[in-house]
Amino acid sequence: MEIFDSVVIGGGQAGLSSSYHLKKRGIAHVLLDSNAHPGGAWQHRWDALTMSDVHRVSDLPDDPIPDAADTERANAFVPAYFADYERTHDLPVVRPVKVQRVGDHDGLLRVESANGTWLSRTLVNATGTWTRPFIPYYPGAETFAGEQLHTVDYPGPEHFRGKRVLVVGGGASAVQFLGALRPLTDTIWVTRREPVWRTDEFTPEIGREVVARVEERVRQGLPPRSVVSVTGLMLRPQEREAERLGAYERRPMFSRIEPDGVRWASGEFEHVDVILWATGFRPAIEHLGPLQLRSPRGGIQLDGTTAVADPRIQLVGYGPSASTIGANRAGRSAARGVAAWLASEVVEQTA
Ligand SMILES: Cc1cc2nc3c(=O)[nH]c(=O)nc-3n(C[C@H](O)[C@H](O)[C@H](O)COP(=O)(O)OP(=O)(O)OC[C@H]3O[C@@H](n4cnc5c(N)ncnc54)[C@H](O)[C@@H]3O)c2cc1C
Repeated sequence: MEIFDSVVIGGGQAGLSSSYHLKKRGIAHVLLDSNAHPGGAWQHRWDALTMSDVHRVSDLPDDPIPDAADTERANAFVPAYFADYERTHDLPVVRPVKVQRVGDHDGLLRVESANGTWLSRTLVNATGTWTRPFIPYYPGAETFAGEQLHTVDYPGPEHFRGKRVLVVGGGASAVQFLGALRPLTDTIWVTRREPVWRTDEFTPEIGREVVARVEERVRQGLPPRSVVSVTGLMLRPQEREAERLGAYERRPMFSRIEPDGVRWASGEFEHVDVILWATGFRPAIEHLGPLQLRSPRGGIQLDGTTAVADPRIQLVGYGPSASTIGANRAGRSAARGVAAWLASEVVEQTA
C-alpha cells in the first residue's frame, strides 16, 4: 500500500487551504472528503442564505473569491468557487470518503473508511463542525408534539409562516433566524446567558484579540468556545425590522418541554408550534478517538495547529481557526507543521 506523507480529511476552506500549501511544498498527500461534491459545509446551508447574509467568506490562497451579487445563494456560489479552486490547483481530492477511524499502525497513521484505507506519516484534520449539530437535552423533549429543528434543518422562513416559533440559542444563527422570521410570524427567543451586543465596529484589531482569546483556551487544552461567545452579537440592517417588532427581547431558558410548549421554573407556560434549536455544533473529530488526543481538560491541546499529544496531527478549522479566514491561515501553518515533522523523521533516521 502506498504510504503518503500526509492525508487531509475534509474538503472545506480549511482542507483546501491545507492541501494547497502541502502541494506547494511538494508533500505527497491525498484529501479525503465525505461530501459527494465540492463546497464543504457551504453546500448544505439553506437556500435563503444569500451572500449578503454571510459575514464574509475569506479568499483561498492565491485565488480571490469572485465578487458576488448580494442576492446570490451562498450554497451555490461558495461551492462553485471551491470546485473551481480544486480544479485550477489540481488538488488530490478523493470523494465521497467518510473517514471512520484513524489509528496507529507501526508508527504510521492508518486512515480507515468504508471505501478504502490509507497509510500516512502525518494527518491534517479539517472536518469542521457541520456534521455534528448539538442539541442540549431538556426534560420532556421527547414528548413535544410540534416540530423540532436544528440549524442544519432550517428550511427557510416561509416554512414557519403562521406558526409560533421558539428560537433557542445565543449565537449568530439565532439572531439571523429571528431577523427573518419575526416579520412573518410570532417568535420567542430564549438563551442560557444574557446576550452581549456589540455596537462598535468590528475592527481587525478586535478580530485578532478574539482569536487570541480562543487560542489561549486551546493552548491550555480546554474545549474551544464558540467565536460569538468572545465577539458579541451584532444586528445588521436586515434585522432592524425584527428588532422593532421585539424579536430580540430575550427570555431565560425554560426548564422543561411539554407536548404543546415550554414551561419555566416559575410555572409560566408558552404554547409553541416549533422549537428551532440554534444551539451550535461540536467539532467533528470522533474518528480521531483511537489517537487519544484529548487533554484531561476536555479539549485537544494545540501548539499553533499541532496536537501536543501527537505532533503528527494538525487540526485546522478547530477552535481559533473556526472561521473562513482562520481556516485559511491555519492551512499554511498545518503544512509547515507537517513539513517540520517529516524533516524531524528524516533526521532521526539518518542519526
Ligand atoms: C450558518 C453558518 C454561516 C457561517 N457564515 C460564516 C461567514 O460568513 N464567514 C465566516 O468566516 N465563517 C462563517 N461560518 C463559519 C464557517 O463556515 C466555518 O468556520 C468554515 O467555513 C469552516 O470551514 P471548514 O473547512 O473548517 O469546515 P467545513 O466547511 O465544514 O468542511 C469540512 C468538510 O469535512 C468533511 N468531513 C467531515 N467529517 C468527515 C469525515 N469523517 N471524513 C471525511 N470528510 C469529513 C465535511 O463533509 C466537509 O466537506 C458560518 C457557519 C455557519 C454554521
